[in-house]
Amino acid sequence: MERYECKTAQPGFAAGKAWLLQRRADGARPQGSPAEEADRLEAAAREMSRKLTAEKEEGGAPDAALLEAERMILQDEAFLQEALREIREEGRSAPDAVDGAARKVCALLQGSGAAYIRERSEDVRGLAAGLNRLLAGGGTEMPGEPFILAAAELSPAELMMAGTPNLLGILTESGSPTSHVSVLAGNLGIPYLYGLERIADRVAAGDYLILDGESGSVTVNPPPEAVREAEARTEAAKKEKERLRAEADSVRTRTLVCANISRAEEADGLAGAGADGIGLFRSEFLFLDRPDAPSEEEQFEAYRRAAEAMGSRKTTIRTMDIGSDKRAGWLRMPEEANPALGLRGIRVSLAHRDLFRTQLRAILRAAVYGNVRIMIPMVASVWELDEALKEVRLAAEELEKTGTAFAVPEVGVMIETPAAVMMAPELARKARFFSIGTNDLTQYTLAVDREARGLESFADPLHDAVMRMIRLTAEAAHENGIRVSVCGELASDERAVEKLIRLGVDELSVSGARIARVRRLLKDAEERLEKEEQEEQKEREKQEEKEEQDNEICAPAEGELIPMAEIPDPVFSGGAMGECVGILSQDGRIYAPVSGTVSVVAATRHAVSFRSGGTEVLVHVGIDTVKLGGEGFRVHVREGDRVRQGQLVMEADLDLIRAKGLNPMVIAVRLS
Ligand code: PEP
Ligand code: MG
Repeated sequence: MERYECKTAQPGFAAGKAWLLQRRADGARPQGSPAEEADRLEAAAREMSRKLTAEKEEGGAPDAALLEAERMILQDEAFLQEALREIREEGRSAPDAVDGAARKVCALLQGSGAAYIRERSEDVRGLAAGLNRLLAGGGTEMPGEPFILAAAELSPAELMMAGTPNLLGILTESGSPTSHVSVLAGNLGIPYLYGLERIADRVAAGDYLILDGESGSVTVNPPPEAVREAEARTEAAKKEKERLRAEADSVRTRTLVCANISRAEEADGLAGAGADGIGLFRSEFLFLDRPDAPSEEEQFEAYRRAAEAMGSRKTTIRTMDIGSDKRAGWLRMPEEANPALGLRGIRVSLAHRDLFRTQLRAILRAAVYGNVRIMIPMVASVWELDEALKEVRLAAEELEKTGTAFAVPEVGVMIETPAAVMMAPELARKARFFSIGTNDLTQYTLAVDREARGLESFADPLHDAVMRMIRLTAEAAHENGIRVSVCGELASDERAVEKLIRLGVDELSVSGARIARVRRLLKDAEERLEKEEQEEQKEREKQEEKEEQDNEICAPAEGELIPMAEIPDPVFSGGAMGECVGILSQDGRIYAPVSGTVSVVAATRHAVSFRSGGTEVLVHVGIDTVKLGGEGFRVHVREGDRVRQGQLVMEADLDLIRAKGLNPMVIAVRLS
């Protein structure tokens, strides 16, 4: 037995056999002629078929149905013929042709109205991954039983390929908590540990591993009693998950809890798991690890599937955030020294308008089937949002012309750069919602590469600088009447949930597996917050009552006092209204004479009265100024508002009143 200290990227506990990922070797192996590539593929297919038949005949495989499904797909001419056609007619390498054929067959399956046919696309992906491993020169088969994936390095695309229901956990040499691999592991709800040096020397295929996200440790080949303990712990964790899941659907919170997904299939069952919607659909995963761009149809089907699964709950589709570590080989992106600062997110979309427009058309069409919203990633400038909005309009016009059914969704902005935070007031006037991507916002605020290893202590998403950015964003959003969500990993960080709602965040979007836990944390935090608010309110009321009791009336304006008898209006000087005093105001600024409530604001804005305890005080500006019909007066309070003595409540334009031939004397009257 060996025990190693590692780092936890995604929490959780898993125990099972290791499977070592071997990288596809097509980068190293030169591509042959079409005839050679076709021969390679046919040989790999024969080998695969032989293995699948042998495994099935041997029996005992935990998922015989899956093996049978793969064998049938392999025997079905459509899959192999398509791959061979791509080799012969399009000059692709055998592995690329396998990926291409898999995409096409999956797209066809996904278009089916029947769920059991759509689910067959998992089998096609599994088969393609197996064929590619054979083409790469062997390597262990992806096991037909639950396994822990171990790899020196892992790309998001490789994880997507391995992301079968059998995947229990991930262990890598290099990694980081906010890497996209970590994000995907979070979506799958499995633990992910990294930082095990020389992994290939320490872990062999078939070794029994215990991944403990809590202590950040990995145990290789533990003794039998530790295995029994681990299995009991896994069982208990499963039960706790089920309990929380059942609870999640019944517990309600003021703050919405939405889900992050990377594939349309992940939307199935989310509503039942208590998600208030999809807060982030990372659509770029439709574009990666394939020979060409997904068609409008393929995208439409994926977006429609998610929208339908969510029904009236919102489905927020982020437009493709390609770039940085999410590279689409077919897009022929330039080599960059600093990819995180290069062509990514909205920049890619604006550099490839056809691609962007195709995606937008697919989203607009899918919007007919649910409550879809569009979200733009990596915005730094207002003009980028303007361009995106223009592209949405153009996509709508194209669909209109062809008579295709569509709906135009709300468009929101991801706040992921410090520039977007600083421009938030301007962006909030054009966007319909904000969603803060704390993974990137932390990276760009603290200048720490989110994929880098060993910099965790510098990349604290709870850093005050990041917290201030979130507060500024929430303030700008609320001042402009829009809501703000957090969809980065921070949204499911136990240390952050309460802080985020105190900063004004209205929604959290987290991986499906975390909804229940986050909802529970929110419920407790909201109860605490509500109690505090009630106590504050009580305290305020007490204070106000006290102020009202010892309230003396003070002058509502600065200037020379005029005795009541000298006010040039008999209604006031004769005392018909009550005891009063005149003031020759210096600047027209009127202050509340008492702490209390605004009881009346005259429609013509020249008079406001205040109630405090049993006292009512009227402040009337000018003699006969009712005639002005409000011209020259700005009132800053409304009837029913609470005011404090000395608070600025009105401004009168004294020059204008004089120019109209009227006397601007301020009169304070004690009505009762
Ligand atoms: C983020 O940056 O926080 C985010 C949600 O986007 P991604 O992790 O996909 O970059
Ligand atoms: Mg991001």
